[in-house]
Amino acid sequence: PSKEYEVRRRGIYRGVQEVWYFVQHELEKLKKRGHDQSGSELANLVQEIVSLGKEHEIVLLNDLQELSSMEGHDSWRAAESRALSDLVQRRLHYLQNPVDCSKARKLVCNLNKSCGYGCQIHHAAYCFIMAYATKRTLILNSKKWRYHRGGWEKVFLPLSDTCTDSSGLDRSNWPGTNDTQVIELPIVDMLSPRPAFLPLAIPRDLSDRMIRLHGDPQVWWIGQFMKYLLRYQPETQKMLDQAKEAMNFKKPLVGVHVRRTDKVGTEAAFHSIDEYMLYVADFFNELEMKEKVDVRRVYLASDDPSVLPEARKKYPNYEFLGDVSIAKGAAVATRYTDSSLRGILIDIHMLAHSDHLVCTFSSQVCRLAYEIMQTLHPDASSKFKSLDDIYYYGGQGPHQQIAIYAHKAQRPGEISMEVGDVLGIAGNHWDGYSKGTNERTKQSGLYPSFKAVDKYNIVDFPVYSEVAI
Ligand code: GDP
Repeated sequence: PSKEYEVRRRGIYRGVQEVWYFVQHELEKLKKRGHDQSGSELANLVQEIVSLGKEHEIVLLNDLQELSSMEGHDSWRAAESRALSDLVQRRLHYLQNPVDCSKARKLVCNLNKSCGYGCQIHHAAYCFIMAYATKRTLILNSKKWRYHRGGWEKVFLPLSDTCTDSSGLDRSNWPGTNDTQVIELPIVDMLSPRPAFLPLAIPRDLSDRMIRLHGDPQVWWIGQFMKYLLRYQPETQKMLDQAKEAMNFKKPLVGVHVRRTDKVGTEAAFHSIDEYMLYVADFFNELEMKEKVDVRRVYLASDDPSVLPEARKKYPNYEFLGDVSIAKGAAVATRYTDSSLRGILIDIHMLAHSDHLVCTFSSQVCRLAYEIMQTLHPDASSKFKSLDDIYYYGGQGPHQQIAIYAHKAQRPGEISMEVGDVLGIAGNHWDGYSKGTNERTKQSGLYPSFKAVDKYNIVDFPVYSEVAI
């Protein structure tokens, strides 16, 4: 390692010690003096601790980021990311362009799920993963698609240059047999039997490279299917380029998605704009320790047209990009008409192309933007802040973690665990604790998030030896 690397590494080591000296000392002070102080004095003290504590965090994260780009690691990541993605894309191209379409084994997917745009794209990607895993050419049936009556191909490139016809000698519903030429796939909610390769599974033959490259290989994998699926038609690309130019889309920029209307109170809780802006401020505060930021730019997408004017009024030191007319169309889109395809295309594109995402992962719009974002960077797994759920894929298999440190429950609501215990994770409370069930003890409750990591579901997929590495 270079001198710079070693100096930086020791700096981080010392920084972690310093942050703990600081926190411990301040908390001891509070314990001794806390009861002599009035409520407002106490609140001020705590605020001081929080502010300086935040500076500690920002410096440490910055140092770590610099460390990770040293020694040519960044260029290795860029090259490996390109190579691995190219390999998967070539496999998908091979799968989708069989030599003889009339003899090809096919998987038919109907794009008529009654749900929003994000949900439908996720439906298509689920079909595509099933196709890859069964080595069947995916035929996407999108006639009268509710987001474009003319079908998928009016918006995105066809999934195949040679094979888009769903006919065949014999057909059956899933699962059929290996020899059935055409198999029809139901929506994931109705799928039976459920195969092992559903998300969040990752393919064994690529898993080492994926885990080495990416902070969340499960999302990287989904992203690869999005990359192939969502190849814009030239017309779509032109529309997006024009929209970008018209709104003066420039980096640095944070993407914020505020999902309201029909979602609030049914599938997600209400979050005020202030909650999102807290994390937007974090992003810029961190960036400003490294470089001068002329304008704090935010791309704000919402299905609630009142959010953008509210944000502009409340946060005059930020520049908000976005379009109230898109949000108006979006509110209509939640009722699934094809009138506002343009709006949702623009919003998801801009969110995915921002430097950081602040949103609620309970929304498929936000999860889709995050998945696409992974195709634009070697590893964008930490470029987000979700105000509610952890990442998930609709219809996924169980999401498990594995304890890497033992824990003894200390407070009510906590659970104990031993190293190697498997935990079914229900959520991260983003306060240092996650919630889940210890599969050994069957106890459910909170455990410190840092003591567990994702347990990847590594599954045998076809290895596509016909496609050169
Ligand atoms: P979810 O309901 O948020 O999980 O996501 P879906 O994509 O399945 O359905 C919500 C639909 O509402 C989207 O497909 C859009 O049509 C619309 N919508 C929600 N949020 C936005 C937004 O920020 N911008 C636009 N243009 N449309 C949105």
